[in-house]
Amino acid sequence: MSEAPFAMEGSAGVVAMLHGTERALEILRATFGHKAFRGAQGEIVAHVAGGGDALVLMPTGGGKSLCYQVPALLREGTAIVVSPLIALMQDQVGALAQLGVGAAFLNSTLDAATARDTERALESGSLDLLYVAPERLTTPRCLDLLSRSKIALFAIDEAHCVSQWGHDFRPEYLQLSILHERFPAVPRIALTATADPQTRSEIRRRLGLDEARVFVSSFDRPNIRYAIVDKQEARAQLLRFIRDEHADDAGIVYCLSRRKVDETAAWLSGQGFAALPYHAGMDARSRAEHQARFQREEGIVIVATIAFGMGIDKPDVRFVAHLDLPKSIEGYYQETGRAGRDGEPADAWMAYGLADVVQQRRLIEQSEASDEFKRVSSAKLDALLGLCESAGCRRVRLLDYFGEASAPCGNCDNCLDPPQTWDATEAARKALSAIYRSGQRFGAVHLIDVLRGRDNERVLRWDHHKLSVFGIGADLDENAWRGVFRQLVAMGLARVDHEAHGALRLTEASRAVLKGEQPVAMRRAVERKRAATRRSSPAGGDLPAPDADLLARLKAWRLTQAREQAVPAYVILHDSTLAEIARRRPADLDTLAGIGGIGERKLERYGASIVALVLERG
Ligand code: ADP
Ligand code: ZN
Repeated sequence: MSEAPFAMEGSAGVVAMLHGTERALEILRATFGHKAFRGAQGEIVAHVAGGGDALVLMPTGGGKSLCYQVPALLREGTAIVVSPLIALMQDQVGALAQLGVGAAFLNSTLDAATARDTERALESGSLDLLYVAPERLTTPRCLDLLSRSKIALFAIDEAHCVSQWGHDFRPEYLQLSILHERFPAVPRIALTATADPQTRSEIRRRLGLDEARVFVSSFDRPNIRYAIVDKQEARAQLLRFIRDEHADDAGIVYCLSRRKVDETAAWLSGQGFAALPYHAGMDARSRAEHQARFQREEGIVIVATIAFGMGIDKPDVRFVAHLDLPKSIEGYYQETGRAGRDGEPADAWMAYGLADVVQQRRLIEQSEASDEFKRVSSAKLDALLGLCESAGCRRVRLLDYFGEASAPCGNCDNCLDPPQTWDATEAARKALSAIYRSGQRFGAVHLIDVLRGRDNERVLRWDHHKLSVFGIGADLDENAWRGVFRQLVAMGLARVDHEAHGALRLTEASRAVLKGEQPVAMRRAVERKRAATRRSSPAGGDLPAPDADLLARLKAWRLTQAREQAVPAYVILHDSTLAEIARRRPADLDTLAGIGGIGERKLERYGASIVALVLERG
């Protein structure tokens, strides 16, 4: 470390650090093919490479891997990466191999001979990184192996798995504090995308990281465009959304129930999409197969319950669609966060209606959980409903929920096409009177019929054509009324009685509205025209569009490569890299080398073929 013999202790450190920063950038460019560190990456790399412990909180897609991969190459010895996602280790190691980095993994999928070879490689010092499953790492045998080897650092990925209150709790993670006890001199870096303060302090405590420097990144995902639409005919709306904007793209469609997953997947397949179901009720083999196809092939739409997600490391998911309402903003953010990890434009789309509110409230009320749990769940649902009904920027609202202040984003439905609000005081009064006059025993469908003056069989059977409210709402159409009832429930001005088959009832808060003492503003229910604004990637600016023909040829070439090497397509090159090639049409290797995602190894391996494709006249 003492390369500046003339300087004092402190500045020698600074000099060494500067030196380290240059080397880090060199590795970033030559090996990973990236031009610059993103956000706090550079600082984190310098800190860990210098021997410090770190806790890194970064959103999904923020670039956590480089925070330990670059120090792994800067420091002497092998970096040990703890990851709960066994299914992914192979792909991660495959991706590193493409970059010329010496990486391997140890988990239960390996046969004994391969495991032994890997252990020997570790001891002989020929590995830069070794991925290990947590349950294996904490065995005496593995710990002994580590003490015979030179360890560069420990990286603990998905560190929130130590949290007993979180949904990803992994008991094996609790044992990881042993790493610090056995190897006190080895720096440790824990990483997670779970932001809340409780989880954060639990990680520090349980992993013995009290002294670690904490790096908190913004949780904004600027490339994700959020849109929440009024649910009318959900399937048709979904179809339009996918057809118009994501015809050949990979995406995830979330549904609440297994049955709906199966039905939606079958229906999308019937519409010509490569759609596959995924839920916990399927046998383990087809589940693993569908996950693997989604991960490795292009353009697959996976239709899933929330059982699908953790362990999905696909950077080019272009959309996440919700056909049903999630339980909380945390859930919504985690699920939508799986879109666009590569930083390219992606969509988070949700269709939401009154039935969703009714369903989620019923799930809470009818659960066996404690009153405390129900109270918390109910508050979380209210926060999510606030997001759905908001007329302001969705992102401002989301980030605010996570304690981050921001300005209107310009990349959500409400920013691009501001919703109109209208004075719904009269409509709300009419709706609430209809609930009251009909005895608080009917759901929205019937109440809308009464308000609109439809004397159908059900209305006649109950003599509701004789009520004073019959026909007083003929001025609004059915959609508008649906919006009114949904917003009344979302605002707590009416409630759903689950004991009485979803009948709507008045609440304490209804009274002021009924008496005309409280004005009510609502969002207007309209089928939105999609905002016609052109998208540019965050780094984009005014770039020319990629050459579509060249892009298609590049993708076909990449697919052949991926098949031959049995790795996912994005491991060969990312979508963003292909797009930039198709945009800039590099005619020689030097120009190609300047494109993001092309490091030395990839240039050597694929450069000639890519330049040939560019020069080929299509
Ligand atoms: P996370 O683990 O935080 O979800 P990853 O480490 O998988 O994120 O990185 C997400 C994506 O961002 C990857 O496609 C990666 O190649 C890319 N990336 C990360 N850091 C940089 C950088 N400094 N410059 C360009 N791309 C980057
Ligand atoms: Zn916005």
